[in-house]
Amino acid sequence: MAVARSRGEVADARHALREAGGSLALVPTMGALHEGHLSLVDRAAELAEHVCLSVFVNPTQFGPSEDFDRYPRDLDRDLELAAARGVDLVFVPGAEDVYPREQAIWVDPGEPGTRLCGASRPGHFRGVLTVVLKLIGLVRPDVAVFGRKDFQQAVLIRRMAEDLCLGVRIEIAPTVREPDGLALSSRNAYLRGDERRSALGLSQALRRARTAFDDGERDAGRIVELARRVLDEAGVSIEYVEIVDPVTLAPVGRAASDSVCALAGRVGKTRLIDNATLGEGDAP
Ligand code: AMP
Repeated sequence: MAVARSRGEVADARHALREAGGSLALVPTMGALHEGHLSLVDRAAELAEHVCLSVFVNPTQFGPSEDFDRYPRDLDRDLELAAARGVDLVFVPGAEDVYPREQAIWVDPGEPGTRLCGASRPGHFRGVLTVVLKLIGLVRPDVAVFGRKDFQQAVLIRRMAEDLCLGVRIEIAPTVREPDGLALSSRNAYLRGDERRSALGLSQALRRARTAFDDGERDAGRIVELARRVLDEAGVSIEYVEIVDPVTLAPVGRAASDSVCALAGRVGKTRLIDNATLGEGDAP
């Protein structure tokens, strides 16, 4: 497995892979790898001959009061896990490679970027889309793989690739969960004691929403109410629970089978998100 730590090194490594022939897939991450990230590597390996995984904790997607400084970082472990999973190239750029000078041009996430997490994290998706565009520019993959766990992020990235004609395929892979339903997240490492049990409220609320839909409930307000009750009972401090259109992310009044229940909340100081389509697969 090759490791590239700068723009120059990634250009050389990409060139070497291209010389070897075959297509290239990129899996962008912020490290602290878990089975969710590694499932994206598996999907990438199904789609392309070579897999590049990037590890970069992107400062521009964190708000001033968010957890950039304490975000979990363990590069040695990440490299071991990536190698064991058959990654060909790990790209670990420094901040100076990604942001070599003051950034003048940013990607505007538009209307869908103002919804859901965008409402409480101003500038977050601008930072995400800008760094993903840079990583795509630096690695120049044929396909880039993202997790459904970060649903709004995946929708915005797919939309960016289409609206800005990036010529890269965007693949969205299912959410990997613990056996009890909790979606894997690097931020789960922050959970202490009873918080782990409270965090289960997110997937339980999604299950409640899906059950209501299965039972014939179509009033989105009513489904939201049922999901909120589960979160309250679990001790999750709710940021939002919404039933949205899967493309525009606008809230719907009547739920359809492709509508997505998206939710965010805090357990102690830890902010967690989760989502599920009401009437289709990828259930918690
Ligand atoms: P992060 O390191 O949190 O920025 O995540 C990097 C990529 O892994 C993103 O595309 C996430 O959506 C994806 N990801 C994170 N958690 C999971 C999970 N539990 N299942 C599947 N993909 C995930």
